[in-house]
Amino acid sequence: SFHVSANVAKMQASSTMMAMQKAVEMRAAGIDVVDLGPGEPDFDTPEHIKQAAIEALRAGETKYTPTAGTRRLLTSIIGYYERNFGTRFDLSEVMATAGGKQAIFNAIVALVDPGDEVLIPKPYWVTFPEIVVFAGAKPVFIETEETGFTLTAEQVKRAITPRTRLLIINSPSNPSGRVIPPDEFRRIMEVATEHGIYTISDECYLQFVYPPAKVWSAATLPRELRDRLCIAGSFSKTYAMTGWRIGYAIAPREWTSAMLKVQQHSTSNPTSIAQRAAAEAFDGPQDCVAAMLAEYSRRREWLIGALREIPGFRVLEPEGAFYAFPDVRGCLRGEVKTSAAFVQRLIEEAHTVVTDGAGFGAEGYIRISYATSLERLQEGVRRIRKLAEKLA
Ligand code: PLP
Repeated sequence: SFHVSANVAKMQASSTMMAMQKAVEMRAAGIDVVDLGPGEPDFDTPEHIKQAAIEALRAGETKYTPTAGTRRLLTSIIGYYERNFGTRFDLSEVMATAGGKQAIFNAIVALVDPGDEVLIPKPYWVTFPEIVVFAGAKPVFIETEETGFTLTAEQVKRAITPRTRLLIINSPSNPSGRVIPPDEFRRIMEVATEHGIYTISDECYLQFVYPPAKVWSAATLPRELRDRLCIAGSFSKTYAMTGWRIGYAIAPREWTSAMLKVQQHSTSNPTSIAQRAAAEAFDGPQDCVAAMLAEYSRRREWLIGALREIPGFRVLEPEGAFYAFPDVRGCLRGEVKTSAAFVQRLIEEAHTVVTDGAGFGAEGYIRISYATSLERLQEGVRRIRKLAEKLA
């Protein structure tokens, strides 16, 4: 039998990917599945971005690029942050990666040692603790249910020990959609700075926020609060480019250099063609983003209202991203004792796929993605409601 390394044996298979797989299997068997599982925009990549990739191909941009990415893309990223957030980063502080996921992987692997503690607020994106464990460090989870799933500086302060090396923040959050208010974010960074702790700010959902929340990046913080900060960014969600595998990291020069080493000896540069497309995404017109946001807004509004009417559901307002994260504990009765069992019943009886909150560290919750047409969303919620009424 195959020998699995100790490092990999410690990792869990991705629960979000498993939900995706289940939907694929059922659809292949001819079942009418409503899939509210995926964290993936249902929109096509905007045309002008595709055209840029086609031009890159025609122009022969099909070779290795510098590991950190082309100058063209790096200057696009720098320009985007300068225009939108008023901070001018140096070329040595920016690198392109194969998706936001690789930016986070590089940042963690380049920083933590075995025995280090890494603070991860709950509920968390499933990948954070897995990378931390892979790197030999210890995830230390912070409970945030009492503050409505938004992290506070006080909670961070209480979780810090002499072994704490890193804090991972994801706002807007996958799975909760919650947003940390900028003032609180600043206080968190003051605490981290005071204690010499590094921070990764995963800003993959940066542009998808709903009023009164506003688009905000940790890049706007004053320099002295960004000395130990890495921003992980992505084109996947903002421009519906999940399959292109393109993202970036912005961090102090020394951290970026260490991340570059990781990337040099693993994947090298992200795809040359995707880099050209991503540069166009940041440099080109942004009305495609506004159009997608408007459609997400419409679905979100309908969804929150509909979920609040389901017996046994409690719904915190998701202020960003494209997920609702209802508390379904009011529906857990008899055989259905856990959110996992609820999700299982939903698949089997209602042919509807959602994601179990337990995978995100929030047993009793489910994640519903509204990155799907309003019509399918409505059908899915109808099915969810039917099951909830039966149980509650
Ligand atoms: N961070 C969060 C919170 C996410 O939800 C995702 C994707 O689901 C990513 C990072 C990574 O996305 P990508 O690697 O496609 O840029």
